[in-house]
Amino acid sequence: MSGFTVAIVGRPNVGKSTLFNRLLEQRKAIVDDVSGVTRDRQYGIADWSGKTFNVIDTGGFVANSDDIFEREIRKQVKIAMEEANVLLFMCDVTTGITDLDSEVADLLRRSSKPVFLIVNKVDNPQRQLDATEFYSLGFEKTHFLSSISGSGTGELLDEVVSYITEDTQVESVTSDLPKIAIIGQPNVGKSSLLNALVGEERNIVSDIPGTTRDTIHTHYNMFQKEFILIDTAGVRRKTKVHEDLEFYSVIRAIKAMDEADVCMLLLDATKGITAQDLSIFGLAVKKGKGVVVLVNKWDLIDKKETNTARDYEANLKKRLAPFSDVPIIFTSVLEKQRIFKSIEAALEVYDNRLKKIPTSRLNEVMLKAIQSYNPPVVRGIPIRIKYVTQLPTYTPAFAFFCNLPDDVKQPYRNYLENQLRTNFNFKGVPIKVFFRKK
Ligand code: GDP
Ligand code: GDP
Repeated sequence: MSGFTVAIVGRPNVGKSTLFNRLLEQRKAIVDDVSGVTRDRQYGIADWSGKTFNVIDTGGFVANSDDIFEREIRKQVKIAMEEANVLLFMCDVTTGITDLDSEVADLLRRSSKPVFLIVNKVDNPQRQLDATEFYSLGFEKTHFLSSISGSGTGELLDEVVSYITEDTQVESVTSDLPKIAIIGQPNVGKSSLLNALVGEERNIVSDIPGTTRDTIHTHYNMFQKEFILIDTAGVRRKTKVHEDLEFYSVIRAIKAMDEADVCMLLLDATKGITAQDLSIFGLAVKKGKGVVVLVNKWDLIDKKETNTARDYEANLKKRLAPFSDVPIIFTSVLEKQRIFKSIEAALEVYDNRLKKIPTSRLNEVMLKAIQSYNPPVVRGIPIRIKYVTQLPTYTPAFAFFCNLPDDVKQPYRNYLENQLRTNFNFKGVPIKVFFRKK
């Protein structure tokens, strides 16, 4: 998976979210409900011609004053210009070019990244004519779209993915060592964890003015453990658009995640898991990354009750459902508690993710599990699973061969996944289960 990111920017109501949903097709979007001046910002993963990339819909604004509104939109555009690889600037043919469109266009013309001007709602030939007005904005790559019907999106996507090349595939190929990303919201303790692991020097290195890398890779080699740590803490911004810390932190987390095998998701124990944390968790799972959850600042929790950790963990797992087979470690970076255990957990997840179960063993165990709890009967015909094999994919995926592959429903799928997890230990790893015609 590449760390390639496409951002959709533009005024509210031009159709950004409609296009976003179309690019993602059935894949469910991760909605980040940052309240206040913005409406939901959405993050998702799109596929086109065998290429996978991140899509961000920068959202709309519901600010009541025009001033705030403009300021917010400029901020978003600037962040998108820094962080994305390709920008889709969307306008609405039915309103013509507005002042705000012209302002955003001025900003975007300075971008060194490819910018596509999308004139949306071009649903009929009359609007096709009207849309030519937008050529005056002066963008070489101008596309007329009807996001609602999808017309024009194919050509757009063909052009967008042509920018995904080997060198945007990140340097992750340079090493066979496990790559562990440290991610989480601002202030959860990411820098402190890094310092505890690799010392203060690392931060000095990243503090070199003009550092423009998005992530920092640090080779760790101590106590017989060797791996690459990927972090975004302390990465310097090129410009001074610091206000929207949350937006930054999510885009950064996505980039670090794309380069990693396993994500260490840090939470602040005093705050619990937030909607934003769940968004990031959901993305990691979709991307097939291994995950370890660190509940940091555990020292700040009053542990009067003996079952504090157990109860906390049970609640957390409920929030993480349906994928809750994840190591949860209660850490205090401040008091150096369980830091090493977290690393061990991440490395175990790394191994689980690469695990290949021999076919004979897999069938021995799983056919027994199937016998003891048979799939349901469909239209009078029993579903018979004859054989199972692990697919030669990079992350764990299993194919069950049966007579009626389309009729195996979610509950039975869950049963099989649980059996795989119970018998073979895929802790921290999203696994895929497929049914195929025998
Ligand atoms: P956003 O605020 O930019 O994300 O805009 P939305 O995606 O929420 O769309 C705003 C409105 O425009 C909705 O009512 C959409 O149904 C409508 N819309 C979006 N794309 C098209 C299109 O291609 N044609 C037409 N006619 N309407 C569209
Ligand atoms: P980052 O923004 O995620 O990199 O967070 P920092 O590492 O900068 O930490 C934010 C604040 O939380 C700092 O004041 C740290 O000293 C504090 N902090 C980090 N880890 C812990 C912890 O385990 N316990 C407590 N009490 N404070 C912590």
